[in-house]
Amino acid sequence: MAMNKIQFQASLEQSRWPQGFHCPGCSHAEHYVLKSGGRKAFQCRSCRLQTSLIAGTLFQGTHLKLTVWFLAIYLISQTKTGLSALALKRQLGVSYPTAWLIQQKLMQAMAERDARYTLDGDIQVDDAYLGGELAGGKAGRGSENKVPFVAALSLSPEGRPRFIKMAPIPGFTRKAIANWAQDNLSSGCVVLSDGLACFAGVTEADCQHQVTVVGGRKPKDLPEFCWINTVLGNLKTSLGGAYHAFDLAKYGIRYLGAFAYRFNRRFRPDTITTCLIVAAATTGPRSDYWLRQAETSC
Ligand SMILES: [Zn+2]
Repeated sequence: MAMNKIQFQASLEQSRWPQGFHCPGCSHAEHYVLKSGGRKAFQCRSCRLQTSLIAGTLFQGTHLKLTVWFLAIYLISQTKTGLSALALKRQLGVSYPTAWLIQQKLMQAMAERDARYTLDGDIQVDDAYLGGELAGGKAGRGSENKVPFVAALSLSPEGRPRFIKMAPIPGFTRKAIANWAQDNLSSGCVVLSDGLACFAGVTEADCQHQVTVVGGRKPKDLPEFCWINTVLGNLKTSLGGAYHAFDLAKYGIRYLGAFAYRFNRRFRPDTITTCLIVAAATTGPRSDYWLRQAETSC
């Protein structure tokens, strides 16, 4: 592994305070460094507030050694298809519930990090479902035990895939698509869909909508949708291989977010571990309770 405990603490500190320590109470920079139980803490020289390295981060309140967290970050960021909680339990030597929480917290950090960005330029969109047949055509439209989500892919001027967004939506309605577009697309995007009526909702977010005429062919067979279908196929493989059963409605947003996070950094495998440390250090505390209630929080 490329990083030891001391380096991980230094990396965490750098991620939290890129310009050096600043007191979370009064923003003062001068401080004392304290050591408590092998973990670094800081005391502000001005207001005397004591802050631990992990307070206010995703790691707040953890009883685990930071080295366990780092190993988890390393494993989760380096696997191409994601890692099940069971695999994480085995690799980390922790209980299943602990492994599950570590996994959920890190996936939450990934999803929140990616939510900061919007897609721009030429975008392909498709309607898809978690559960049942993921990329298996449109037969599942309207089925109830599935989680609808929008798959969107931005293309380079040469027509190559750039970034993706995958987000659950309440349903394929014009209003839901308009809200989704507001959050996920930059204004001025040109959005290509197979013509499902709700996708016209992107125009409410100052985007153009172009429809591919399907003409009796299944949209998934059209060359225009080659890349988005490839991505959906990869998602299906990833979910099928790494996550056997999970509550789609409740946790789907995190699994989709983590998948998109990995995809969007696919050309930077050497920096993705460091990126995930930054994401975790700059994501606030997400309590166990909150994580289990997440269906209403996103
Ligand atoms: Zn202070």
